[in-house]
Amino acid sequence: MSKEKEEERRTSKVKYYSPQAFKFYMEQHIENVMKSYQERLLRRRQLETEMSKVGLKSEDQNSMRKLLYQKESNYIRLKRAKMDKSMFTKIKVIGRGAFGEVALVRKIDAKHLYAMKTLRKTVVLERNQVAHVKAERDILAEADNEWVVKLYYSFQDKENLYFVMDYIAGGDLMSLLIKKGIFEEKLARFYIAELTCAVESVHKMGFIHRDIKPDNILIDKDGHIKLTDFGLCTGFRWTHNSKYYQRNGEHGRQDSMDHAEGWSNECRCTPLKPLERRRKRDHQRCLAHSLVGTPNYIAPEVLLRQGYTQLCDWWSVGVILYEMLVGQPPFLANTPEQTQYKVIHWKETLLIPEAAQLSPEASDLILKLCTSPEQRLGKNASEVKAHPYFRGIEFNKDFRSQQAPFVPHLDNPADTSNFDEIDTDNKMRSSCGGGSSDSDADLSKPFHGFFEFTFRRFFDDGGAGLAYPRLPPLKPSPDPDEQQQSQQQQSQPQGPVYGV
Ligand code: ADP
Ligand code: MG
Repeated sequence: MSKEKEEERRTSKVKYYSPQAFKFYMEQHIENVMKSYQERLLRRRQLETEMSKVGLKSEDQNSMRKLLYQKESNYIRLKRAKMDKSMFTKIKVIGRGAFGEVALVRKIDAKHLYAMKTLRKTVVLERNQVAHVKAERDILAEADNEWVVKLYYSFQDKENLYFVMDYIAGGDLMSLLIKKGIFEEKLARFYIAELTCAVESVHKMGFIHRDIKPDNILIDKDGHIKLTDFGLCTGFRWTHNSKYYQRNGEHGRQDSMDHAEGWSNECRCTPLKPLERRRKRDHQRCLAHSLVGTPNYIAPEVLLRQGYTQLCDWWSVGVILYEMLVGQPPFLANTPEQTQYKVIHWKETLLIPEAAQLSPEASDLILKLCTSPEQRLGKNASEVKAHPYFRGIEFNKDFRSQQAPFVPHLDNPADTSNFDEIDTDNKMRSSCGGGSSDSDADLSKPFHGFFEFTFRRFFDDGGAGLAYPRLPPLKPSPDPDEQQQSQQQQSQPQGPVYGV
């Protein structure tokens, strides 16, 4: 490069990026622009459909269109506003994961409570997890159903990536398993029926979760479940391929689902807790937080890297049903390697103990889910739903509104007592070693993989959260109780998902 050119670069206000970074940015940016456009069209169409259903007068229709237009402009303006972590106050750390922590936070201006997941960029980079983080951001942003935890914002600063999600106050299913040990059939059936619908909803979106396990199943304030942690989720999109995020072509690092190097055996748990069960459980949770987690719930074809389909998630559902009814997962072993061996040799190792006294239907469902992919139930979700284990359950659209058999105790919306106490002194593995000195994780070097990470859900910060302006009620005047209830429901931002 000539001296003048170099000088020009040094003094220029325009930043120089590698052609690879520019290409990456353009591809991601165009994808997002197209998505935003499609979503805007969808909102407009939704409004038109709703208006024709209600039969609005034409001048009212026009004012509704105008309102939507204003909302769209507002949204574009809000999207441009830069977000940072100082806009939230941390109330308590409720979860610790492979890349950082999850904390209950309050947004300072609107006073809403959220769960904020923080991922350390160095750790994400060291472990070649950029593609997975991108996949998680995409699915959480795209998901618009009650079975999946809602993402409201994602943003980043120099050190971290942030996901701001709904705070699901009832804790995770792992905590409940620790507390209860074994579930009664009624409770197990309820959770497995809901899990079936949740898995179906992820598959309908074209994704495979790949990490369905009790830690990643949350219980909401009414006792219904929501899936979280899409960090291993895949939809076979090209932007979710780890090769796409490599700084250059030379580093052929491994996907975390390529377990060729075996499972991590490290954990942070304090040995010798009084109860053996509790100790084992803690150890399991601890392993779950290591990079590749526990292989307890992962289907054999995934472990064997034989190629897998959405059916792999149904295997995990079978493992969870077994765990709920028997009191421990079927392939539990002292080390992840041994567990992996047991999973792969499931034909010999999968045994349902007679002493557990499972109903014939429950045993049959477990054996039909934890079997070879060819034999496995779940080619479509209705196959699972039709199993006699679910006799009497009506999987209709109101299924989720039924009363849950267990409703978590909550003193107030910011109550965190349903989450296990997190040892805040005992920093996660990633921050106390385990990280390589690989220069790939050096954040001072330019890296484009986190471009276009920011997301903001389409909703009013005021809280109405509708995709389109509120239409007059179909019924003449709702009774006051119902009205109050619906107002309460609307106080949390809701509405379709619009990826940015
Ligand atoms: P990781 O990818 O590190 O496993 P997760 O997303 O699973 O991270 O979060 C770790 C833990 O934090 C979960 O097991 C759960 O206990 C808690 N958690 C995660 N998201 C939420 C949420 N939206 N509301 C409440 N708790 C959450
Ligand atoms: Mg998790």
